[in-house]
Amino acid sequence: MKAEIIAVGSELLTPSRLDTNSLYLTRRLNERGIDIIRKTIVGDDRKRLADELRRARASADVVIMTGGLGPTLDDISREAATDALGLALVFHQEVIEAMEARFRRMKRRISENNRRQAYILEGAEILANANGTAPGQWLEDEAGILILLPGPPRELEPLFEERCLPRLHRVESAYQFHTVSLRVAGLPESEVDQRIGPIYSSEPRASTTILASPGEIQIHIRGEGSTIEEAREIAENLSARVDAELGTSIFTRRNESMPEVLLACFRDKCLTLAVAESCTGGMVAEKITAVAGSSDYFLGGVVSYAESTKMEWLGVKNSTLKNYGAVSREVASEMADGVRRRAGASVGASTTGIAGPGGTTEETPAGTVFIAVADDDGVDVHGMNIGGERDRVRLWATTRVLDLLRRRVEKL
Ligand code: AMP
Ligand code: MG
Repeated sequence: MKAEIIAVGSELLTPSRLDTNSLYLTRRLNERGIDIIRKTIVGDDRKRLADELRRARASADVVIMTGGLGPTLDDISREAATDALGLALVFHQEVIEAMEARFRRMKRRISENNRRQAYILEGAEILANANGTAPGQWLEDEAGILILLPGPPRELEPLFEERCLPRLHRVESAYQFHTVSLRVAGLPESEVDQRIGPIYSSEPRASTTILASPGEIQIHIRGEGSTIEEAREIAENLSARVDAELGTSIFTRRNESMPEVLLACFRDKCLTLAVAESCTGGMVAEKITAVAGSSDYFLGGVVSYAESTKMEWLGVKNSTLKNYGAVSREVASEMADGVRRRAGASVGASTTGIAGPGGTTEETPAGTVFIAVADDDGVDVHGMNIGGERDRVRLWATTRVLDLLRRRVEKL
């Protein structure tokens, strides 16, 4: 089954608003094995929208239109749909009554404009919206399925989850899909693709997508078959071969984030952690604590930016700073070990680097970062040069130290 998404709203054609609805819809549809063959953004223009809707319905089985269902005159999705489909709009008193009940609870009165939202395409089903005034609409005819949904994500998402996905499931094509998602840290995208390309291209019954973000690569392997068991077997066989190739660089086979994986590792081994950050300025602690339950292992962190705080708070030796400089293997080690001892944690981690721009010296160019992980058995230190702007250097350093932690703790 193939789907198209039309995002409606002139604001989405300006630099200030992003069409996030189509990302959400694409994710949920892809999970069900429904491909998105095209998505478009159309401003609040009745003629352009009607033309686009005609074109989309001719090429896809399902067309989802988001936005333009509000009460104001620039909201013309309903009218454009009547133009494109040659159907009338029918007034539904029950929509008004639901709206009145909702407004009474908020001690407000509905305005004349809101009446526009009670017009439903002839033959369409009303998808009641518990979070706003505009109901969604579901129309099924010989051209396929047309779904109209309100624009605000907090209205669209529950409506789609509760009222649309179960129905789409019912009319889904004979093909079944199963997706396995692997996440990789610490390897460049080009190397990952070079190593696994020959594996995934040998399996025509699966499609593989590779998504790269700073410090992390996601590999989604989707098997396709006539039964769900067959689809699962294809996806799992292929992912096992990818797994064997990339080994410990894969940090999850369940689509978890790195901090979620760390929480599981530390819990599993009953270990605790403290971090000392310089160039990442608290980003490591932020990522760790973004996961509920991190208090089970995370004791705390310090941002020791100056040499004085590295010495006073962490016990980094003055001579180490003088001999090797603050951005060095030696200082990273002493920071990780120092924070571990002072916090009484089983494991300590640290970052020190030159995030740039500027700060370059002869031996250490901007982008030079050292990360370290210390425990009772000693210290692991890695040096690297991260290209790009300040934000990118800091983000990479953060993801790399989290991965170093994972690798060390998995071995303990
Ligand atoms: P509308 O249904 O056109 O009245 O949209 C109301 C509001 O929903 C807009 O002002 C946006 O803030 C938001 N919105 C509409 N379309 C989208 C979209 N595709 N992605 C994210 N937000 C949207
Ligand atoms: Mg709008």
